[in-house]
Amino acid sequence: MTSPLSPGATIGILGGGQLGRMAAVAAAQLGYKCHVYSPDADAPAKEVAAAQTTAPYEDIDAARAFANAVDVVTFEFENVPDDTLAAISQIAPVRPGVDALHVSQDREIEKDFLNDHGIGTAPWAAVNSAEDLQSAAARTGLPAILKTSRFGYDGKGQVRVDEVGDLAAAWDSIGNAPAVLEGFVDFEREISVIVARGIDGATQSYVPVDNVHRNHILYTTTAPSTVTENIANEARRIAAEVVNALDLIGLLAVEMFVLRGGQVLVNEIAPRPHNSGHWTLDACAVSQFEQFIRAVAGLPLGDPSRHSDAGMTNLIGDEADSWAELAAEPGACLHLYGKAESRPGRKMGHVTRLSPVSGRP
Ligand code: AMP
Repeated sequence: MTSPLSPGATIGILGGGQLGRMAAVAAAQLGYKCHVYSPDADAPAKEVAAAQTTAPYEDIDAARAFANAVDVVTFEFENVPDDTLAAISQIAPVRPGVDALHVSQDREIEKDFLNDHGIGTAPWAAVNSAEDLQSAAARTGLPAILKTSRFGYDGKGQVRVDEVGDLAAAWDSIGNAPAVLEGFVDFEREISVIVARGIDGATQSYVPVDNVHRNHILYTTTAPSTVTENIANEARRIAAEVVNALDLIGLLAVEMFVLRGGQVLVNEIAPRPHNSGHWTLDACAVSQFEQFIRAVAGLPLGDPSRHSDAGMTNLIGDEADSWAELAAEPGACLHLYGKAESRPGRKMGHVTRLSPVSGRP
């Protein structure tokens, strides 16, 4: 087993958003330095990092220089080009590994991977040509959601299709890009599990949480989820199975649909900290960000249990304008991401409110 990084070592983070920012703060608490690589000079994570690179993700020379300057590389952004990752991984260890990243970068590969491991998803079919559209719809049924296989997030690159006659226009609207058509799931609720896997293969998961989306963007997370103990256990079992199958070192967020009959399907996985884990910053001794850094640095994983129940609300666009009132609200834990410009749909911060532990699993 590789020995853990010593305090003072440098963790390279590809991506400079709020996830990188909160991870860099957690790394600093453990005595590590972070070097943030992002094309955006004003990236939120750069404000709290010891070193920064501002270059496009396609710039192989800049990526090599970055890899030479750090002890391990991780990412908070999945869409780093293959060539860049290949160049980096020749110089520094990449955690989670490049293979895990490949699976979660592409919805078709991801769903194949999950189904091959016996994990249920919404019915789906790949769409790579206009001819695929009809047969895909026959497999999934309608309504369905057409999603680009790559580069989608927060509902971007997605369109709902209600009738066969709308299929061609829907595919045009996403630029005829490779896509998957997914049958519309009439779920009872959406939950997620964040699971960590250490360098020794040990896993630890946070309690499943209930997520509510607004306009395809996460709006609230409630911890713990109020699903039955059986469903909570099943969700955690699925998350552990996926993280082991990926042989991933780091953090994996698994978003799931719970159907009315109690069946749990996986919607999406992300090999990094996740918005639905932000509550852990205030409600757990070891947050998802510290757990992520522990795994990437080769430290033993921390205890993911919670000392409080929590409700997290995202501050999206101008909702963050109420920061002064939130700062004055007793018990509200306010987190702002330092983004200069507010835009509709942009995540500007979040607020978490704690309550005594309910005793649920
Ligand atoms: P995604 O980008 O795949 O995570 O989708 C964002 C959100 O859209 C999900 O969290 C759901 O609320 C909704 N959604 C995505 N796929 C489906 C589906 N197949 N059936 C119903 N709702 C969906």
